[in-house]
Amino acid sequence: MAERMLKFVGTAQALPEKRPAAERRHDFQEIYALYAREQASEQASRCSQCGVPFCQVHCPLHNNIPDWLKLTAEGRLDEAYELSSATNNFPEICGRICPQDRLCEGNCVIEKGFESVTIGSVEKFITDTAWTQGWVKPVQPRRERPQHVGVVGAGPAGLAAAEQLRRKGYQVTVYDRYDRVGGLLIYGIPNFKLEKEVVQRREKLLRDSGVAFRLNCEVGRDVTLAELRQRHDAVLIATGVYKARDIQAPGVGLPGIIPALDYLTASNRAGLGDKVPEFESGTLDAEGKNVVVIGGGDTAMDCVRTAVRQGAKSVKCLYRRDRANMPGSQREVKHAEEEGVEFVWLTAPQAFLGKDKVSHVRSIRIHLGMPDASGRQTPQEIPNSHVNIEADLVLKALGFDPEDLPATLQEPELGVTGWGTLKIDWRSMMTNLDGVFAAGDIVRGAALVVWAVRDGRDAAERIHAWLTAKAASAAVAAE
Ligand code: FAD
Ligand code: SF4
Ligand code: SF4
Repeated sequence: MAERMLKFVGTAQALPEKRPAAERRHDFQEIYALYAREQASEQASRCSQCGVPFCQVHCPLHNNIPDWLKLTAEGRLDEAYELSSATNNFPEICGRICPQDRLCEGNCVIEKGFESVTIGSVEKFITDTAWTQGWVKPVQPRRERPQHVGVVGAGPAGLAAAEQLRRKGYQVTVYDRYDRVGGLLIYGIPNFKLEKEVVQRREKLLRDSGVAFRLNCEVGRDVTLAELRQRHDAVLIATGVYKARDIQAPGVGLPGIIPALDYLTASNRAGLGDKVPEFESGTLDAEGKNVVVIGGGDTAMDCVRTAVRQGAKSVKCLYRRDRANMPGSQREVKHAEEEGVEFVWLTAPQAFLGKDKVSHVRSIRIHLGMPDASGRQTPQEIPNSHVNIEADLVLKALGFDPEDLPATLQEPELGVTGWGTLKIDWRSMMTNLDGVFAAGDIVRGAALVVWAVRDGRDAAERIHAWLTAKAASAAVAAE
């Protein structure tokens, strides 16, 4: 092992080739190339094969990172793929969009002074190679089971659960109100982070595995949850969180002030070749405009970088805390800055000015005061520090809350927490309704794709345990 591994001393960290900002500003293609085989092997060989791998501990899926790095270093890519796909349904997606700096790579313990192993890029390389080599195959259950499971929501949580349940032989139908499979993977996250073909080939694989999809079907409108419970032996709710947090400020209702997800969805739809009237009329298109994005999370980063690519005149990101205290990935901020985005730190909007439509954001400078109960410094306005920032398009990216799910699903008995997320028993992942389980953002609140995959896999296990126990007690009762 020692011969091939532990190369971090002599081999510097190298990410795959990144396209120059001047080029990528003009298109929506992903910004990183794929490693060449030798480069992947070389980078994987930097791993020191820790006895207690903190990278693995801090990966929500507890991926067996050191082992697949070693196999990659040895050129045994088919085995690396087997291992990596055993714990993750979408390794090439997580490899592209996990905030690795906060998860696996951020916890890599390579000696101080050396940079972490590029775990995400190697993970992406392994599975993209598996796709091109034809190693990624539809699920073929060893035995078919008669029980049906209905999954509400075709985002990463619902899809991971669907695949795991098919693997065990259950009959699975996934319902989604959208016309495409993928949830935020398809309509939220922009192409330059995750090309849509990567999601669509997963959809095809699931269809080839026998998962049925009912698209354009909104549960609560086209079918009730009660009907799904009649139709299926178990139901999983994985509907995500979509209620955009709003800003309370004068003028916030002016035309030209748009929720971030409406803007990103329109851009993704246009990229997929759909006719989007608001995009064509210019309402949701940043071309030639002064764009101001309000917020400091991943959604805000996606908005600023989309606006650059649409040909905005200027793009500013307003955030009330500083760079060190923003929730978005630092890697994304760096990409955005390279692409020409201006970050206006420690600044908050106070009012939106304009006659028929927004023309300026009246903003105020912020000072970070004493920490609050959560330990974060409280933003405090600095008196008389107003500035008016020119804006033709303002995008509100302040995060998401759950919709009123008992109302939208027409199931008033469904239990929710004080935050509106679904209340589950974490051991069984079941809601208060018998046979109704829940997973993903609708349980955790807005989180990450990798957590949605983890929850979907866990939910599939719990559904299997519950259905097995139910079948066993029915058999005993029948004796
Ligand atoms: P979703 O992906 O939201 O899927 C839920 C699905 O349920 C949707 O398809 C929806 O149409 C469907 N649905 C909802 N209600 C109904 C109903 N009543 N009937 C039928 N179907 C219904 N995470 C990362 O890890 N990395 C990133 O870079 C990243 N970037 C992001 C960028 C943006 C703009 C946003 C908004 C989020 C981002 N996230 C990122 C977070 C990540 O996308 C989510 O945490 C993840 O998608 C949650 O998965 P989910 O399956 O729970 O829900
Ligand atoms: Fe890292 Fe995400 Fe892959 Fe886990 S799934 S190893 S956190 S990139
Ligand atoms: Fe390898 Fe870093 Fe993980 Fe240790 S923490 S096993 S060096 S990737």
